Formats: sequence, structure tokens, C-alpha cells
Amino acid sequence: MYDLIIIGAGAAGLTCAYTANGFKKKVLLLDKGLPGGTCTWSGCIPSKALINIGKDIHTAKKYSPSINIDTTKIMNDVRGVIKEIYSHESPEILKNDGITFKQGESIKLIDPKTVQIDGVDYQGKNIIVSTGTSPFIPPLEGLEKVNYLTNQNLFKLEKLPKSIIILGGGAIGVEMAQCLNRLGTEVHLIERAPRILIRENEELVDILSQTLIKEGVNIYVNTNTISVKQDNKIITLDIEINKEKKKIQAEALLVSVGRVPNVKNLGLDELGLKYNSKGIEVDKYLRTNINNIYSVGDVTGPYQFSHMANYQGILAVKNIFLPIKKKTDYSNISWCTFTSPELASRGLPNLNKKETKIYSYGRNQSERTMTKKDDIFEMRVETGYKKEILEVKLLAERAGEIISSFQIAATNHVTLDKFSSVIFPHPSYSEILGNLGKKAYVDKLLENPIIKMFIK
Ligand SMILES: Cc1cc2nc3c(=O)[nH]c(=O)nc-3n(C[C@H](O)[C@H](O)[C@H](O)COP(=O)(O)OP(=O)(O)OC[C@H]3O[C@@H](n4cnc5c(N)ncnc54)[C@H](O)[C@@H]3O)c2cc1C
Repeated sequence: MYDLIIIGAGAAGLTCAYTANGFKKKVLLLDKGLPGGTCTWSGCIPSKALINIGKDIHTAKKYSPSINIDTTKIMNDVRGVIKEIYSHESPEILKNDGITFKQGESIKLIDPKTVQIDGVDYQGKNIIVSTGTSPFIPPLEGLEKVNYLTNQNLFKLEKLPKSIIILGGGAIGVEMAQCLNRLGTEVHLIERAPRILIRENEELVDILSQTLIKEGVNIYVNTNTISVKQDNKIITLDIEINKEKKKIQAEALLVSVGRVPNVKNLGLDELGLKYNSKGIEVDKYLRTNINNIYSVGDVTGPYQFSHMANYQGILAVKNIFLPIKKKTDYSNISWCTFTSPELASRGLPNLNKKETKIYSYGRNQSERTMTKKDDIFEMRVETGYKKEILEVKLLAERAGEIISSFQIAATNHVTLDKFSSVIFPHPSYSEILGNLGKKAYVDKLLENPIIKMFIK
């Protein structure tokens, strides 16, 4: 009898396995594929590897526009990165660390304590389902006859196509649009909504869109896709923008219009384990409607990021094995879209707008930004009455790193004015946090009722 059986060995499942292993529990980790999941094989890792190469080439092209790009070598390098990451989470490494991993074609819940893998039953006191998501394939006329790409086969390409249509202007579509364009592919990015990255700050997304367009990405918003067909090597997409019909042609098509939870063929219906179109239903403790079965990561949501899968994984295992259970707390969530510049966010929108103040910061206020021609820096920091850090939106080089300082502060209840006493290196992007802190410090002083009395 295992203490814990985990179905799905992606970011979430691996975190659960290592956390439970740390508690000296007997763990069985199962997957239909190899360990690593989307993040390692077809998500964060290969996409960021390709983005990094695109960035290098983009910079080089500024000073030497006619450089030769060997995309076969690029794709090999991307797969080299995957291999390196995987070498830290392979079944052999897991075994050495004390975690049993089994791969099987059919993995099913039989009862609340039994999981069957390829016909063999295993017993577990507790079970976690972390089967992640798959690309959503829209009901677009003709798509079934087209040899389209998703994140699952994009990084397996021998070389990059000469031109590509990308369906979906979410984070995946936008990141890939910019980096493929930088690597020499002609890109057509199609979005149904009035703008790309619809859930992000409109003002910052406008600046980012302009950057992409300036670099050569063709962006089509407010677009209805009508049908698609493939003749030999050419894919033709029929679209309608503002009631005007248009044809777009390219060598390849990438579908990135959303994700669907992997809930099929797991025996959930037979067991009565509740799920809906967004994924497996859990309570605030990440427990499903069956007492000893938990669910974490993308398959339950609500935030489909690797770091949220890690957060939920640790929390679920603690809730299973420790006497005091903790609820999920998403107030300090952060995320980043890895374009250039990066678009990073932290915190949730403050619905109670009373007594909040927004501090804005632009390129001209950062000497570090000014050291790089055309560098962009736009920041919006919302603070509460006591200068506590609420929502932060940042469009900048390395925004994903800069936002982490706000994360550390906010998570540990350090207010923005406290940044004023920190000595930052010059000229760094982080120096801006010190300047912002000084503003907040002065404001806090001026808002103090006693000081107000004196300066009247
Ligand atoms: C292109 C792309 C880029 C991304 N970039 C980022 C990023 O930069 N930062 C970030 O935080 N997030 C990013 N993400 C999201 C991130 O990859 C996911 O949030 C993360 O992988 C979720 O982890 P998970 O363990 O819940 O699911 P997964 O990693 O999908 O793992 C699920 C595992 O379950 C297995 N499984 C599925 N069904 C079954 C079954 N029936 N039986 C047995 N096993 C099964 C799968 O084989 C898989 O190994 C990106 C995603 C994509 C697609």
C-alpha cells in the first residue's frame, strides 16, 4: 500500500512526489508518457529556449541585418535544452531519490484507494490527479484535413517554416509570434478579440502590440475565422475582419486558442468524481468531492502556470499529511508573458478602489532603460492606504525578474515606502524600485494626519 499515488508526472505531479518523499512517504508516480509534462516537453522550457535564441538573433540583426540563420541547428539546440532539463527528472533520477515511477498506456481510478495501470491494480491511502491540459482544437471548417501544429509538435520540427499563421493571441501565440518572426518566419497572428492578450492591461498591451508590428509581425484582431484548407505545402485561412473577407496563406498553421483539461479515460465518471468543462472540481484545500482524492495543476486550475502547479502541489501534499489544513490563497499570484519586452503582473485587481493610489513609471525615469536604444519600461503599481503593494503591471526587459522584488515584499507584508531605504546598484532596473519607494515614503508622510496639521 502506497501513502500516495499521483496520476500525471508534470510540474504538479513531480512537485507532489518530491514533497511527499520529503515527508518520508511511500510514493507511486504514474504517467502515460515520460516525467516532465507540458512544461519540460512542449511548454515553458522549449518555448523559452526558442525565445532566447530569437532574442540573440534579433539583437545581432540590428547591427548585421543580413546574417544567415540555420533553423535546423536552432531546433536541435532547443531539443538539447529539453534533454538537459529532463535529465534531472528522468525515471532513473526519481528512483534514486526514492520515488517509484511507472509509465502505462491506460491509467484508471477503480475505487477511492485503487489505481489500475495497464490492468494491474495499485493501492494508495491518498491519490492526487494532476493530468494537466491539452490544446483546444476549435471547430473550424476544414481544420481536420490540415496538417496543423500545436505546442505538442511545434518543438519537434526539423526546421522552422518560411511562413506561419498563428491562431490565438494569448500568451503562447504572442510569444511564438514574436520569436518566430525574429527567426525569419513570416508571421500572421490571428485574434478574435479586439486586441491580443485580452486579459492583460490594455495600455501596456497596446505598447507591446506596436513593438511586435514594428518588428514585422502581422496582427489581425476582431477576426472571425471562416475555414481553412491545405493544398500541397500552402495553407489558406479564410477570415472576416469588420465584415470584409480576406485570405491568408502560409506554409504552416499553429493552433493556440486555449487548453482543455485532461479528464478523459481516467475512470472519473464511474467513480463519481466531479469535474466540469474547466477541469476537476476542488475545494479550498484542493480536495475533490472524494475525501482522499486531491487534484492540482492545470487540470483543476484556475491559473494554468507551472509555478501555480508547484504551489498547489506543495499545499495539497501538506493538507494530506499534516494535521492542520491550509486553504489556497491566490492573492499573491504572479505571471509573465516572455515577449521582448516582457509583460509581467502580480496580485489580483483591487475591487475596493477606495484609498488606493497608482504609481506610474516610464522609460525616461530609468537610466538603465535609457542605456539601451529603444528599450521600453512602463510600470503601474497600485498601493493601498498603508502603501501596501497591491496589483503591479510591468512591461520591460526582464520584467519577470523585476516583478519578483514586488512579490517578495508583498508576500511578506513589506510596504512600498520601505523600498526607499534599500540601496540598489546603479544603473540597474531595480533602482526604479528605490525611486518608487521614495515617492511612496513622501506621500505616506504627507498623508499622515499629524504632518498634515503642521504643513497647513
Ligand atoms: C507553449 C507553452 C508555454 C508555456 N509557458 C509557460 C511559462 O513560461 N511559465 C509558466 O508558468 N507556464 C507556462 N506554460 C504552462 C505550463 O506548462 C503548465 O502550467 C504546467 O505544465 C502545468 O503542469 P501540470 O503538471 O498541471 O500539467 P502537465 O505539465 O500538462 O502534466 C500533466 C501530465 O499528466 C499526464 N497525463 C495526462 N493525461 C493522462 C492520463 N490519462 N493518464 C496518465 N497520465 C496522463 C501527461 O502526460 C503529463 O505528463 C506554458 C504552456 C505552454 C503550452
